[in-house]
Amino acid sequence: MILIDGKKAAAELREELRQEVSELKSKYSKVPGLTVILIGDLAPSQIYVRNKEKSAKEVGLKSEVIKYPDSVQEKTVLEKIQELNGDENVSGILVQLPLPKHIDKQKVIETIDPSKDVDGFHPMNVGNLSSGYESSVPCTPLGCYLLIKKIEPNLNGKKAVVVGRSNLNGKPMTQLLLKENCTVTITHSKTKDLKAECLEADIIVAAVGIPELVRGDWVKKDAIVIDVGINKTDKGLVGDVHFEEVSKNAKALTPVPGGVGPMTIACLLKNTIDCFKRSQI
Ligand code: NAD
Repeated sequence: MILIDGKKAAAELREELRQEVSELKSKYSKVPGLTVILIGDLAPSQIYVRNKEKSAKEVGLKSEVIKYPDSVQEKTVLEKIQELNGDENVSGILVQLPLPKHIDKQKVIETIDPSKDVDGFHPMNVGNLSSGYESSVPCTPLGCYLLIKKIEPNLNGKKAVVVGRSNLNGKPMTQLLLKENCTVTITHSKTKDLKAECLEADIIVAAVGIPELVRGDWVKKDAIVIDVGINKTDKGLVGDVHFEEVSKNAKALTPVPGGVGPMTIACLLKNTIDCFKRSQI
């Protein structure tokens, strides 16, 4: 079985991006800039944002974090986003989720200029992705896609099963696999026989949030299995896939941690650079 090393793949991607930033700097005399807006003091959000800032600096991007207290008014955040939309030194804008209850998430997402939407959540980018046009793609499914392509460059006609239909993971993952000519089944909490669906799959992407949901006898021999889940349990962090069982059948499998997670931040940097490049055309 191939253990898909997300840490190594992310380090390779960051190195490619570092070189690209250096070339862009020579060509345009400026570097792409990522601005992250962080509201409140939720510990996981603070950690994510710190890691994003650190990784951005490592590849040579300009990186800025704007912090607001939990009590900030929605209007203040929307006005800041509008200001950043008009700032030519800002290539990418990310508002760290979740937001406090009094701030309308969808309004925030729709205020970001789609050409600076490095999370790929703006309806314009969602629509472009599903129409097969160029767009920012949400970072986690983009990372999964790059890992799958490393194992199997030609996905033509492969049967893929995506477990979970969130806007963040399942739906964009489905679009990426469709674009690669996979036959995709999207499954969710109301799916009648999830095991039977998974048993058909050459590729399984699990993004559910239920510890070890996908079992060894759900997986066809030689399937590629991508585990997006991050679940805190008594035995530590586990994915949505039963690692020990599935590793006996699968051709390739991502571990948790060290699989999809590291690719997510690397893809955010990639999206920022891609937004910059599109803005220079
Ligand atoms: P979500 O809660 O928004 O969506 C979960 C999806 O799973 C829903 O579509 C639901 O219909 C489906 N589901 C629920 N129970 C099911 C069942 N029994 N069978 C089949 N489908 C079922 O979750 P999300 O935001 O997509 O996150 C999923 C997991 O991925 C979580 O563990 C989250 O922590 C993790 N995550 C990881 C990364 C990363 O970088 N690795 C990034 C984002 C999320």
